[in-house]
Amino acid sequence: MRKSFLRVAAALALTASLATAACGRSTGPEATGGGGGGDRSGTIGIAMPTKSSERWVADGDNMAKQFQALGYQTDLQYGDDVVQNQVSQIENMITKGVKVLVIAPIDGSSLTDILQRAADAKIPVVSYDRLIRGSANVDYYATFDNFKVGVLQAQYIVDKLGVAQGKGPFNIELFAGSPDDNNATFFFKGAISVLQPYLDSGKLVVKSGQTSFDQVATLRWDGGLAQSRMDNLLSRSYTSGRVDAVLSPYDGMSLGIISALKSAGYGTPANPLPIVTGQDAELASVKSIIAGEQTQTVFKDTRELAKAAVQMADSLLTGGKPEVNDTTTYDNGVKVVPSFLLQPVSVDKSNYQKVLVDSGYYTSAQLA
Ligand code: BGC
Repeated sequence: MRKSFLRVAAALALTASLATAACGRSTGPEATGGGGGGDRSGTIGIAMPTKSSERWVADGDNMAKQFQALGYQTDLQYGDDVVQNQVSQIENMITKGVKVLVIAPIDGSSLTDILQRAADAKIPVVSYDRLIRGSANVDYYATFDNFKVGVLQAQYIVDKLGVAQGKGPFNIELFAGSPDDNNATFFFKGAISVLQPYLDSGKLVVKSGQTSFDQVATLRWDGGLAQSRMDNLLSRSYTSGRVDAVLSPYDGMSLGIISALKSAGYGTPANPLPIVTGQDAELASVKSIIAGEQTQTVFKDTRELAKAAVQMADSLLTGGKPEVNDTTTYDNGVKVVPSFLLQPVSVDKSNYQKVLVDSGYYTSAQLA
């Protein structure tokens, strides 16, 4: 017993050193055979939602690199934000015999049938960043503290406006993400948990009256849709008075919202842009923050998220135990999915250098 444990440990150490040696090469895979600790050959299926947002490109690349460094092959696919594309891509992966599926769903509730097929083929599933809903066949979930993302966005607005110190009233408009993405409701609930007392006291006023999730949701997180909704809000509700803050859940939407604001005359010394939040620290938004347009974003380190998902998948295949730190929050309607939550970080002009550049996430040249 002990002997075989030692053999396994030695094999794992060898695999790990090979993995380190393979690190930094852009081409994988290094077939190490995995020793006695499990089978590190074979392909991991990675299904990501869209390339239209940088973060998912980084997520996919980071995972592929990390899996390849361990000796796996990877099949990385993007669904172009079309649900049926993603279902077909997963179907192909199952047919191909992938060892594990790592999936960031486009529509969290549309994978029940295909995941039944994965389960029939004994392929475990890791839900990535977004929770897969309505299926028992989701083994683990790697994500960020999504409620906290919304808290950070709203707290930023509250602090900047000084409403807790009695300033106000101020006008605010609210945006939420895609209604088929479980994260969108978490972000919105987190934000409302901070804003509600000030909405109740009248220190924050939503002049459009649109405050429910359904009224403010934005299908597929579409920046163009956010822009046209902001256009409408401005022309209907702000013929007098100004908007002082906009809760935006995602950088791609924030930039659309800022375009609408500029078209309506905001962004001058006499009529400055309102506070506009965001999420993902995408390059264009960080540049916008540096230029003094977008005010804030929430950084979620995709390198760390990839690491968590790779650790889960690798453990599932090598007989280890996937690391989790939350077993209560993420009920997908059928089961509570054991999760590993990472911490999001609020970023603005004052700390982007430290959080994004000093950490090596971006180079200064990329932000110039
Ligand atoms: C992710 C966010 C992202 C959004 C739009 C969400 O599920 O958690 O990081 O901004 O999708 O892609």
